[in-house]
Amino acid sequence: MRRILVAGLAVCAAWMTAASRAAQQRWKIHDRNRPQPPVVTPGECSTQDHPGKPPSDAKVLFDGKDLSQWESIRGGPAPWKVRDGYFEVAPGTGNIRTKQAFGDCQLHVEWATPSPPHGQDQDRGNSGVFLQSLYEIQVLDSYQNQTYPDGQASAVYGQYPPLVNACRPPGEWQTYDIVFHGPRFDRSGKLLRKAYVTVFHNGVLTQDHVEIMGPTEHMKRPPYHPTPEKMPLMLQDHHHPVRFRNIWIRELG
Ligand code: MG
Repeated sequence: MRRILVAGLAVCAAWMTAASRAAQQRWKIHDRNRPQPPVVTPGECSTQDHPGKPPSDAKVLFDGKDLSQWESIRGGPAPWKVRDGYFEVAPGTGNIRTKQAFGDCQLHVEWATPSPPHGQDQDRGNSGVFLQSLYEIQVLDSYQNQTYPDGQASAVYGQYPPLVNACRPPGEWQTYDIVFHGPRFDRSGKLLRKAYVTVFHNGVLTQDHVEIMGPTEHMKRPPYHPTPEKMPLMLQDHHHPVRFRNIWIRELG
């Protein structure tokens, strides 16, 4: 039995070596026949007074005007309030999600917590960006406001504290730039690969390609369950009037 296993592993290793050799040989170094990357016109950074511009190939999920790309998770239109280029959580109305589903992606989100601040710990400017509606990057007023580290702003909620606390004061616009690679399952629902996420908070690296343990929940770390490769992006109503603006996404191939 052991001999069969060793032989199997040897065949597998040989196949992988052949596969990686074939990939390496597909294009020679500095090969001018290699396809050129698509041209993208870069966007512009935001200031506190003005939202920036997305890159030319991004899908805009909120451009300051309406919530037409979003819906309530309870059904029907997204009930949050749109004003002066931003939208605000309408406390008690429930989470909202994109109408479109997304898989691997680069995501840009800007948010601001209430000023003057109210409450403390988790009860202060709490919302969340849920990748694929399951994996929360915490939104919280973590400026001079302590909470459990894996629940502060830019945490993978309940799993990974941010590498640093890069929070701006309440009322100021803050940015998340997120790179997400979703989990993969085979046809029988077996997990083949966990999800990974990288996060920059206000341009500072806070999550460095961390392996997400499973869906994020309060006081729980449930295992993965089979999900489609694409799922909606969701924003959390945690009963605090947190604001959002300039949200765009680039799907990764
Ligand atoms: Mg939250």
